[in-house]
Amino acid sequence: MAKLRLKDLDLQGKRVFLRVDFNVPLEEELEIRDDTRIKAALPTLNYLLEQKTKLTISSHLGRPGGQYDPKLSLKPVAERLSDYISPEVLLAPDVIGDQVTKLKKALKESQVLLLENLRFNPGEKANDLSFAQELAQDIDYYVNDAFGACHRAHASVVGITEYVEKSAAGFLVEKEVEYLGKAVHSPQKPYVAILGGAKVSDKIPVIENLLNKADDILIGGAMAYTFFKAMGNEVGRSRVEEDKIALALSLLEKAQAQGIKIYLPEDHVVSTAIDNEAEAKTVDSFPFSAGLMGLDIGAKTIQKYQEIIAKAQTIFWNGPLGVFEIEQFSLGTMKIAAAVAASPALSIIGGGDSVAAVYKAGVSDKISHISTGGGASLEYLAKETLPGLEALTEK
Ligand code: AMP
Repeated sequence: MAKLRLKDLDLQGKRVFLRVDFNVPLEEELEIRDDTRIKAALPTLNYLLEQKTKLTISSHLGRPGGQYDPKLSLKPVAERLSDYISPEVLLAPDVIGDQVTKLKKALKESQVLLLENLRFNPGEKANDLSFAQELAQDIDYYVNDAFGACHRAHASVVGITEYVEKSAAGFLVEKEVEYLGKAVHSPQKPYVAILGGAKVSDKIPVIENLLNKADDILIGGAMAYTFFKAMGNEVGRSRVEEDKIALALSLLEKAQAQGIKIYLPEDHVVSTAIDNEAEAKTVDSFPFSAGLMGLDIGAKTIQKYQEIIAKAQTIFWNGPLGVFEIEQFSLGTMKIAAAVAASPALSIIGGGDSVAAVYKAGVSDKISHISTGGGASLEYLAKETLPGLEALTEK
């Protein structure tokens, strides 16, 4: 739990360092494709401006590998942000250094300086303390509103808080923790978790934790086939993580020992290729012939999962149940999105591709909470805290 919140700080006229997640998708021509992340930080930004703070903002963007990359400059972000807030956003030429220090010192009340991409400096990912100290220079308070980065112990998320008197959660982080906390600490029962996507490996710690919390775990997507293979089935060319087969088996055994139901698909939409032209059919048993891949859950599975979802009081969903980007393998994910939306349960979508799926299904407004952090929400569910949240204290 975040220990300090924005409203706990007396901000009037203070010099504030705000860490946000402006890691937006960019087109080839550096146009911003989707500015949801920028909009998500506006409540905190506007509040800080109302409090007449002298505001330094920072974010990472993509993976520049610790060096300057013009394609990953925050310039388009600074321009877009200027459309949303009233003072013009000044973009610093770097993350730290003499010029940046001068600009920081010159900030007046309600002025905004956006630092360049944090990951242009190798000190960010390394949580280098001298880099963190320089970020904190000429700063009174630190505010973290970058939920999507809170699972990373990077300099602008963790290290910097060592050098600031008070560090607090922004409104977005506070809201994320409030909703995810409901699933973690006091889930109304039945608690149904829906897990899909490509990889089991990303979700193993979450499943382990869910075995102590959830009533039913519904599995779909490619990760189902690692479980099926672990149970001795012949899954054709379906995507399997061979090195996770033993772990998958032990998760199934643990679930059984604890009386938690892990549901696997009862039927499968299979094909020889992941495109709309390849012939697809539904099968309900193994073995799959050698060339076939399981690419979506079938109608029987959809119905079964819909029935379980309809009875839930709490739902956590991460990962599509099939290759939802391709029309003929998207039905399972779309139907499950609709079922989650129709349920009166507290519903939480754990970031990533499932967010795209609920938007594609047109039901995003019927979900209780759509997390802005895929990796962060999964890690919060697995560990019940995050390094970036632990750091939000008073020194
Ligand atoms: P993740 O990032 O682990 O949530 O995985 C999301 C990706 O998993 C999406 O791009 C889906 O197309 C893909 N996916 C879902 N189901 C399958 C499947 N049965 N086979 C291959 N890929 C899948």
